[in-house]
Amino acid sequence: MKIVVLKFGGTSVGTIDRIKKVTNIITKYVKKKYKVIVVSSAMSGATNDLVNKSKNISNNFSNAEYDVLVSSGEQVACALIAGRLIHKGYKSRSWMGWQIPIITDNNHKYSIINQVYRRNIIKYLKSGGIPIVTGFQGINGEGRVTTIGRGGSDASAIIMAKFFKAEKCIIYTDVEGVYTTDPKKLKKAKKIRVISYEEMLEMASLGAKVMQPTSIQDARLSRIDIEVKSSFKNKSGTLITKRKNIINHSIITGISSTQNDAKVTLVGIKDKPGVAASIFKPLSESSINVDMVVQNISANGKETDLTFTIKSDDLSKTRKITNSNKKIKYKKLLFDKNVSKVSIIGVGMITTPGVTYRMFQALAKHKINIQVISTSEIKISVLIDKKNIKKAIVALHKEFKLEV
Ligand code: ADP
Ligand code: ASP
Ligand code: MG
Repeated sequence: MKIVVLKFGGTSVGTIDRIKKVTNIITKYVKKKYKVIVVSSAMSGATNDLVNKSKNISNNFSNAEYDVLVSSGEQVACALIAGRLIHKGYKSRSWMGWQIPIITDNNHKYSIINQVYRRNIIKYLKSGGIPIVTGFQGINGEGRVTTIGRGGSDASAIIMAKFFKAEKCIIYTDVEGVYTTDPKKLKKAKKIRVISYEEMLEMASLGAKVMQPTSIQDARLSRIDIEVKSSFKNKSGTLITKRKNIINHSIITGISSTQNDAKVTLVGIKDKPGVAASIFKPLSESSINVDMVVQNISANGKETDLTFTIKSDDLSKTRKITNSNKKIKYKKLLFDKNVSKVSIIGVGMITTPGVTYRMFQALAKHKINIQVISTSEIKISVLIDKKNIKKAIVALHKEFKLEV
């Protein structure tokens, strides 16, 4: 069976008119003799509305009920797509995660898909049907509905491609593919033709919303090529694939930025072994993810300052935990939400010296102060004042010649 998985994001199914257009894309593949499995997100804005409802009814809304609530947006979109295909004379039906079933672990709100039962869908495909599968949701071992994290329909699609050994997995979205940086923020951003899993994973983790990070990890492990393209324009998009398949690497492939980081500084902590561990232990026990860390060299050998970043959402929890941490002493505890992380990503930097210098120099030229730095083999991230994001992206995009 020649199977293709087509995933449609929120904007692609955002209106009745768009849903009608999406069914034209689906039938195009049916006419090409593909067995089509569709995975759909909720109509744009629907999930956010549901999340807001949960916040308005309780500031401590149950994670299990959150999953039942927010997964409902996908049900609506899938029924509308299937309904339109039936209207056009095709055999189609919607499938909720639990009906397939798509089995996840028990970690409500952030579940991981462990298993997809193939039998029902295969039978349906063989009978000529077009299954329209809800992204984002599954069912756990206790029969409760789960969701797999915001933006999770990408991962749903890739997991479906894996379990059904699809020939292609195409992610249809509202831009033409993966760009050197968010095309909605920088007009000069260029579409990337081919990108490696590793680079895409870094770009996504560091703020490029176009693909959800865990979905890329799943694709990498299962060696599934992904095509990202527009559901509005019939143009070639971006191929996400193995590094080996890519011949021409530029030094830097893309630039990402975040909007939801916060900086925490402990001024005047003791400069002795074990202090950093005492600060981070209770944070990790509360599942607070610490990202960038910098410790200043102490001038007197006794006291130092420690700065780290967390997600803004974790700020009040971090404040509470650190304030009540009896194992540490400090002079001042400072919080700053007006920060943003800007990162350059590219496998080319492994073999090219001087990339760090060029990045810092370009930022310095524009008087952008770097507060914290973190690096890996294929990325350099800097924490800067939020008001300088655009300036920094423009400068770096130019410095690394991404617009030519
Ligand atoms: P969907 O609803 O289809 O899943 P998303 O809103 O999740 O779509 O992701 C698409 C959006 O990602 C684009 O509209 C774009 O603004 C944003 N984006 C951020 N960085 C990039 C990038 N490097 N390339 C393309 N799009 C990006
Ligand atoms: N509808 C879900 C969300 O908004 C899943 C997705 O769009 O991928 O997060
Ligand atoms: Mg998305």
